[in-house]
Amino acid sequence: MDFRLTEEQQDIKNAAKEFAEGEFDIEYARKCDEEHIYPRELVRKAAKEGFIGMAFPEEFGGQGLGVLETSLVGEEFARVDSSLSLPILAATFGSEQILLFGSDEQKEKYLTKIAAGDYISCGMYTEPDAGSDAASYKTTAIKDGDDYVINGTKTFITNGGVANGGALCAVTDPDAPKFSNMSVIWIDDMQNKEGITISDLGRKMGINSTSTCEIAFDNCRVPQSNLVGDEGMGFMQAMMFFDTTRVGVGAMSVGMAQGAFDKALDYARQRKAFGIPIAKFEVTMFKFAEMATKLEAAKNLIYKAASKIDAGNPDLILSSMAKWYAGQIAVEICDEAIQIHGGYGYMADYDVERFYRDAKIKEIYEGTKEIEKYTIARAIIGKI
Ligand SMILES: Cc1cc2nc3c(=O)[nH]c(=O)nc-3n(C[C@H](O)[C@H](O)[C@H](O)COP(=O)(O)OP(=O)(O)OC[C@H]3O[C@@H](n4cnc5c(N)ncnc54)[C@H](O)[C@@H]3O)c2cc1C
Repeated sequence: MDFRLTEEQQDIKNAAKEFAEGEFDIEYARKCDEEHIYPRELVRKAAKEGFIGMAFPEEFGGQGLGVLETSLVGEEFARVDSSLSLPILAATFGSEQILLFGSDEQKEKYLTKIAAGDYISCGMYTEPDAGSDAASYKTTAIKDGDDYVINGTKTFITNGGVANGGALCAVTDPDAPKFSNMSVIWIDDMQNKEGITISDLGRKMGINSTSTCEIAFDNCRVPQSNLVGDEGMGFMQAMMFFDTTRVGVGAMSVGMAQGAFDKALDYARQRKAFGIPIAKFEVTMFKFAEMATKLEAAKNLIYKAASKIDAGNPDLILSSMAKWYAGQIAVEICDEAIQIHGGYGYMADYDVERFYRDAKIKEIYEGTKEIEKYTIARAIIGKI
């Protein structure tokens, strides 16, 4: 067992840190949060520097890197800023379906544009009546001539208002049994397509630098050639997709937690109460000891889960543990960082309250913490 990063991995981590520290303007991050702005130009810049689609093969505009390398970048970006990192890291969301299951033609057509920063993607899974219960999606995509005709509503879709296209999970065979009745279909030219209505869901608790939308399909026609992977395999493809992306969500969570920790540490060293820096109170020291231990444990879970995926041996339990635990400690550490800042922590100028608001979603999307625990426990206990 070797816990060291390779020289290349360390270089990638350093490059991500340098980019984030150089390009993330904290005033702009606050503005994006307050005014609900999607930082499109920053996303483009990150793509130019090679930070988007890093996992895509080189022939399709990427660098052929693994989940570990992309996780390191996610962590460094989120550490510098929780609000500006997410739009960059989520710019490829949904395209993993093409990366994992798409044809070479689809990879050439979409992945190259996504990696270049010219095409934003999204993943359309959740519906108003079915989130965790993914086998109960009702949106249909029924064959008619050379097309699928799509009807139904997806909700909470990240990038919905800015995406050029995305992966849709829909029922293609209503008569087939649950778990084998769905397929993944790529929706192109989303913002202009006939039969699609996209409505922004407005201001959220956090991650206001992203667009979260409801997307309604009303007899929307898409060519059958836009099927990604195999017909009837949509549920399985969705589950495999989330096994990979969950580790990335965990990495972002750890980055946010580390960023809040760094701010709290700086503050505790210089803020005095009762004549001494608050970092000298035993109660504060213990807080840092506990936070540092949680961070270390979460990082190890993420790096191990990522390494196993990269080695071609993904571990469902480990990926769920990594996502759940990292999300939980991100919320705990951001909360503690506010507490250490006292009254100032509650104010927008110190950013820890923004980190806290941005972190909370990590316990909800791409599998709530309850569903992650359910997945872990079911795999451990097995059938009784
Ligand atoms: C800002 C934001 C961005 C999002 N981005 C996307 C996106 O890009 N694409 C997309 O498809 N979705 C997206 N989502 C949706 C997100 O993945 C779902 O909200 C999430 O999976 C939970 O589904 P739900 O909201 O329907 O809650 P429900 O599934 O109704 O769950 C409600 C509560 O019940 C609990 N619960 C449910 N079932 C069980 C069970 N079996 N055992 C124990 N507890 C259970 C849950 O843990 C939760 O606490 C996003 C959501 C938000 C808020």
